[in-house]
Amino acid sequence: MTAISPIRPVRYWDGIPVPFITAWSKEEIPVQELVKVHRSSGTTVLGLRGETDLERQFGVSWMRMPATRGGRPQHGRVHAPRQRQAMSRLLCQLCGGPTVGTRKDEWTLFLAASADGHPLLSGERTESPPVHAACARLAVEHCPPLRTRGWTAALARRTPVWGVAGHVYDPLTLRRLPGAPQHRDGMHRIPFTDSRRIRWTLAARLVITLGDVVPVTDLDALADEETAVIRAVR
Ligand SMILES: [Zn+2]
Repeated sequence: MTAISPIRPVRYWDGIPVPFITAWSKEEIPVQELVKVHRSSGTTVLGLRGETDLERQFGVSWMRMPATRGGRPQHGRVHAPRQRQAMSRLLCQLCGGPTVGTRKDEWTLFLAASADGHPLLSGERTESPPVHAACARLAVEHCPPLRTRGWTAALARRTPVWGVAGHVYDPLTLRRLPGAPQHRDGMHRIPFTDSRRIRWTLAARLVITLGDVVPVTDLDALADEETAVIRAVR
């Protein structure tokens, strides 16, 4: 019996790999139909009109977006549902295949752009899902921001969910509040413990904490280890 490789074929556009979590031009964000939902517990929360179970996860409503991967890739724009799927199931952000079971130990690889060589540290929060070592190697070779600005990689043994990044709305008017200036996409990062603000957040990214982090500099060695593990399983 031959098992399917956890590393999936990566999509390319103009010779550049397109990450699984990248949004495409036909995946435009529609107008979000926001409503106030009165709970039996007596609290009122933000919701989407006609919300399905899939659209409310981790106790939060999630931004609606079509998932067609049609048109042209929009590098730098993240597809909210695919980011959540990748982060919650530890799928590779480049190819979309599972990263769990691709190492002998229980560590998971993370890769981030880093202009100043700042390493990923234990306790750091990230919106960037994990990556296979082979896919990380591909990304640092071909993805312009990583090639030009530099990158940092680390293995993390613990990856607990921390909260979400999203847009926060005024509970009275349902107007979107200004984003945090330090967030690249003008969102707020809200921990699940912030019950007051998370109730009025429309989530667009799942955020995790990296725990027990070990920096990685040699992606080639890690990719070779990964190949050996995948071969042994198959
Ligand atoms: Zn991958």
